[in-house]
Amino acid sequence: MALRVHDTRRREKVPFTTLRPGRVSMYVCGVTVYDRCHLGHARCYLAFDLIHRWLEASGYDVDYVQNFTDIEDKIIARANESRGGDWQGLVDDMIQGYYEDMDALNILRADHYPRCTEHVDGMIAIIQDLIERDHAYVADDGVYFHVASAPEKFGVLTGQSFDAVREGAGGRVDETGDGKRDHRDFALWKAAKPDEPTWPSPWGEGRPGWHIECTAMSLDRFEGAFDIHGGGHDLRFPHHEAEVFQGECHTGCSPLVHHWLHNGFVNVDGEKMSKSLGNFWTIKEILERVDPLVLRMALINAHYRSPIDMNETLLHDAERNHARIVEVYARALRARTTEHPVPLPHGDVGSSDALARSLGLLERMAEGFALAMDDDFNSREAVAKVLGGVREIHRLLDGGLDEADLDAVAHHAVEWLEELAGAILGVLPSRDVLLAEPEEDPRREAIADEVEDLLAKRAKARAAKDWGAADAIRDRLAEMDVEVTDTADGPVWSLR
Ligand SMILES: [Zn+2]
Repeated sequence: MALRVHDTRRREKVPFTTLRPGRVSMYVCGVTVYDRCHLGHARCYLAFDLIHRWLEASGYDVDYVQNFTDIEDKIIARANESRGGDWQGLVDDMIQGYYEDMDALNILRADHYPRCTEHVDGMIAIIQDLIERDHAYVADDGVYFHVASAPEKFGVLTGQSFDAVREGAGGRVDETGDGKRDHRDFALWKAAKPDEPTWPSPWGEGRPGWHIECTAMSLDRFEGAFDIHGGGHDLRFPHHEAEVFQGECHTGCSPLVHHWLHNGFVNVDGEKMSKSLGNFWTIKEILERVDPLVLRMALINAHYRSPIDMNETLLHDAERNHARIVEVYARALRARTTEHPVPLPHGDVGSSDALARSLGLLERMAEGFALAMDDDFNSREAVAKVLGGVREIHRLLDGGLDEADLDAVAHHAVEWLEELAGAILGVLPSRDVLLAEPEEDPRREAIADEVEDLLAKRAKARAAKDWGAADAIRDRLAEMDVEVTDTADGPVWSLR
């Protein structure tokens, strides 16, 4: 089965097609960098990480763009509160924090991370064009997009009228302004206010509105229509609908975005995350008590469009399932006895029918995994296939195989796990971390008993204030190249 994706605009699963064969252009709205990322961000960027990984595994060359919104009301407010207005410093620190969090969650980097402030000229050019085409107008406090002028109406992604969605969103629609002609219009350019960073424009000093930023950055990179635009469910309105208006009115190309994909919410213990409920966690806070790969496991064990409820049970299950995968991976790695095994021919292997059946089952699990991922990236089902494979791998390694078969099976299992649980689900620890054992120095082992004995005698001599005996022991240890450090927990020794 070929890949099918749920397209928000078409409101159904559609075959995934690309504008250019073998290549995917994908833009995902990035974070507004005024604070550390929270659980909702982890969910979103993990969802698109899996999509990114699966597209690459399916043979596509993906050009993945994710922006940083580095100028916005919240950034200015936070910088004024806590940094004496140094918004650039705040932005740089939060971008650094973003990379730390996402790297910890094993989220592969996008190909390009544009910052809004690097694209103000492009935004001005699009706004100018929209004014010339009568899709935008200049007011006292900025420039607005005139929604009534667009062929599309609000509702293109949500299926609801502007007023219905605004009601649902608790009336919170950004980009309100005094100069609007119509309450549905939104700001493309905001005239300068005191104590704010500003850029020059044909309409005076000011700064861009949020929606125009993503349109300018995606068009700059892809130079026209592109394959996937993604983001959180809550960005559909007004942000992404505004992008449809601007982008399509500016380019005359519809649809400009070929597949709109949106990920679901995260709740915590059945409640919406919010600072006032005290259940609002940053990724950094969660990772102080949860292994990052366990958190990753918890968040991918759901379809990306479904809501997730983060609670102790979910984390506990993820921890157990993750441990099972890691355990079997370590077991398979250690069961290998050669570096390059005789390859296992598919379907007809090994010394017994049971072995052949077991390997056939593993192959069918991998096929099931691929079908699940091709069905709108159903990672929950894909995780289930990997866990089924874990059981089968244990059975194979338990099976009383002869040495050559055992080695071949272990290599096959390692490859299977590294492909599905590693390259695609991203939940395997590295081989090196897993196989690292405390290093035993053979020289140290050979003299360990004697050294311990001497250290015990030295302690006795010191207690008896027998300095001659203590010095003799010190000299003997020096001859053996042993260095002793006295600590609060007693002497610790090493070899020079
Ligand atoms: Zn955006």
